[in-house]
Amino acid sequence: MKVLYRLRKADYQAYLVGGCVRDLLLGYEPKDFDVVTDAHPEQIRAVFRNCRLIGRRFRLAHVHFGHEIVEVATFRGLNNEDGEGDRQQGRDGRILRDNVYGTIEEDAWRRDFTVNALYYNIRDFSVVDFVGGMEDHSAGILRLIGDPEQRFREDPVRMLRAVRFAVKLGFTIHPDCAAWIPHLAHLLEDIPSPRLYDEVIKLLMSGYAVQTFEQLRHFHLFGALFPETEECLAQEAEDFPLLFLAKALDRTDERLQQNKGVSPYFLFAALLWEPVRTQAKARIAAGDNDVFAYQEVSAEVINRQVRRIAIPRTVSLTMREVWMLQPRLERIKGVRPFKLLTHPRFRAAYDFLVLRAETGEADPELADWWTRFQSAGEAEQKAMTREGGTARRSRSRRRGPRKPRVTRDA
Ligand code: ATP
Ligand code: MG
Repeated sequence: MKVLYRLRKADYQAYLVGGCVRDLLLGYEPKDFDVVTDAHPEQIRAVFRNCRLIGRRFRLAHVHFGHEIVEVATFRGLNNEDGEGDRQQGRDGRILRDNVYGTIEEDAWRRDFTVNALYYNIRDFSVVDFVGGMEDHSAGILRLIGDPEQRFREDPVRMLRAVRFAVKLGFTIHPDCAAWIPHLAHLLEDIPSPRLYDEVIKLLMSGYAVQTFEQLRHFHLFGALFPETEECLAQEAEDFPLLFLAKALDRTDERLQQNKGVSPYFLFAALLWEPVRTQAKARIAAGDNDVFAYQEVSAEVINRQVRRIAIPRTVSLTMREVWMLQPRLERIKGVRPFKLLTHPRFRAAYDFLVLRAETGEADPELADWWTRFQSAGEAEQKAMTREGGTARRSRSRRRGPRKPRVTRDA
């Protein structure tokens, strides 16, 4: 409100627009508020002291209020000839830059979905609608403004946004738009990888990961984002892959619902686990040491994936730790389990193992052994590591040499 009134006082137009208007009309609390105005970025900066201009592809102003940021954009115009500023479009029709300014009505036509092009006018508390957004909003329809094919080609990320909003709002993607998605899904390959990382986080860390995942697969978008995982899911040889990932996503949704934190590394570790697991399995079958196999395969899978989705290094390093601890969790004799308990990623790796066990991909007895081991007293722990516990694998490997070491520790 402060931003809107301040702009008005400076004789500019100012509206709330986009997601916040759409969500308020549904009775949801908006995640953030986007303001749009006829003031140009430099003029916006002149009105607010606490203002920073950001973005090259889409230049806009961030007005800071303590921790809060209100995004203020200038009305976008329709084409280069009439408007000032610059718009750059690739040969494939993709919009690379969009800094042509125009009127509110032109701005409406530049937006993605009709329900995202509603403007709230503080002057008379009305909603301004140029594109039939109110009608679609009441009917629960997500419809691209203009020609769907062209609008998806201009910015293929709109396909991901369609899925995200459809799931979040419980809306239906209009058939004329939905029909194009499987045909154009491959265009995501040309999107800069950092932008796709941001989108994937929004898609899968907003509390609707399970449904979103299903829809992404339905529209062939998932394979464009995670080709190696999609390949595993398509094979589904042992019936495990789909279960594990779905379960991991379900857990993510559950945690968000309980206001518990979720970490991108756990999510991405789950998303890429199938390719890592199957490729490591093949290497181990060919004679590689298991820990070494996981180490190598983890690096390879990540290197290929980051070309598409720019997973930050801090995230990918932790993902690798979680993966590489999986074979190590199978060694439950001697001092190793004690050492593993102190590993900074032990808890995450254990949670990961439990999830694998719950979906039948890892040995439930092994997961159970670790559960008991953590809550056991010192003496019991010693006994568990001496016997090798009840986990299947270690029983067959019962050999002598470790025993004295444990006794010495005792
Ligand atoms: P939310 O913030 O809840 O994720 P939103 O609709 O506000 O949803 P933003 O990414 O914040 O989404 O964008 C704000 C508005 O900017 C959108 O509602 C839409 O009008 C416009 N917009 C955003 N991205 C695009 C795009 N790729 N193409 C066209 N218009 C877009
Ligand atoms: Mg928004």
